[in-house]
Amino acid sequence: MAKVVLLPGDGIGPEILQEAKKVIHAVAKASQAEIDMQEYPIGGGAFDEFGAPLPQHTLEAAQKADAVLLAAVGGPKWDTLPGHQRPEKGLLELRKGLNAYANIRPVRCFSSLVGASTLRAEVVNNVDLVIIRELTGGVYFGEKKRWTEEQRFALDTLIYSEEEVRRIVKVGFETARQRRKHLTSVDKANVLDSSRMWREIVEEMKVDYPDVTVSHMLVDNCAMQLIRNPGQFDVVVTENMFGDILSDEASMLTGSIGMLPSASLGDQAGLYEPIHGSAPDIAGKGIANPCGIILSTAMMFRNSLGLSEYADKIEQAVNEILEEGYRTADLAGNDTDPSKILSTSAMGDRIV
Ligand code: ATP
Ligand code: MG
Repeated sequence: MAKVVLLPGDGIGPEILQEAKKVIHAVAKASQAEIDMQEYPIGGGAFDEFGAPLPQHTLEAAQKADAVLLAAVGGPKWDTLPGHQRPEKGLLELRKGLNAYANIRPVRCFSSLVGASTLRAEVVNNVDLVIIRELTGGVYFGEKKRWTEEQRFALDTLIYSEEEVRRIVKVGFETARQRRKHLTSVDKANVLDSSRMWREIVEEMKVDYPDVTVSHMLVDNCAMQLIRNPGQFDVVVTENMFGDILSDEASMLTGSIGMLPSASLGDQAGLYEPIHGSAPDIAGKGIANPCGIILSTAMMFRNSLGLSEYADKIEQAVNEILEEGYRTADLAGNDTDPSKILSTSAMGDRIV
């Protein structure tokens, strides 16, 4: 029996998770897979009830699960709390507790939504790429120091071990192998030693993946190419900070934050979540777009539950519904037929 831990969180979290649950039930029924779903608290609500944004029993359940599906955490109510009590801290602790070192963000521009992007249709049409970001190493986790006397100095250390690089680059190669077989490794090898080591390791590893073509790209050039010609990318693999910046940049190619899924994978349960936040401004109105979490659910079926056939079906269903002209409010434009603007739950029902 597959064990799935569900984390509704705050804001629109519980509303969109409800729609993901409908999809999981539908897949369980169609595939006859036994899927055990249990809900646990995380985020601001968890802090209010249990005094911690990641209660111990939530972490323990996540560590024992096959997959964790998280909706969203945070909101204005908790903005004045000190750092270690904030809802977002719960998420960081969860990633750490699951040793989730690979953050995977597919960026796909659905052809019926190209108008929603800020870029021209001919640039974003057919964008279908994946950014793989190293999530637990690099400059965010290196030694830090500040000196404040006389003159101010500050230090952040960028350090990677060979093992850390190998395991994330491997995810890059394996992902490329399942897709269009092109891997772009992004670094700053013209100035950084850590990048020169990264590039060396990619070169060593590529002999094991003769079916995958590899190119190296400097991060500044990559930032430009993502806007100039994003269609050239299949899989991009990069270190933590470069990936943080590039994945946010790439998400805007599609113009709709409510559509994009993500996975954070390591050696324990995979953690799946939409890239958007808890959207407190629209919480409780029944208008949130559930597609991001539903597409995250598809990634969960593919990567953690061995049901990739159903992942494909979910992605096809989302595509078909958009093709038919159905929209949640965030996706609606001037040309949208008002009778096709759906609530959160009506969108979930259509996808099911
Ligand atoms: P966080 O810090 O948690 O990432 P944020 O401040 O970056 O949060 P979001 O919560 O992602 O922001 O919201 C940004 C904007 O996008 C808001 O106006 C919100 O209403 C909108 N938004 C986010 N997610 C959705 C969604 N699923 N459906 C519709 N609108 C959304
Ligand atoms: Mg945000």
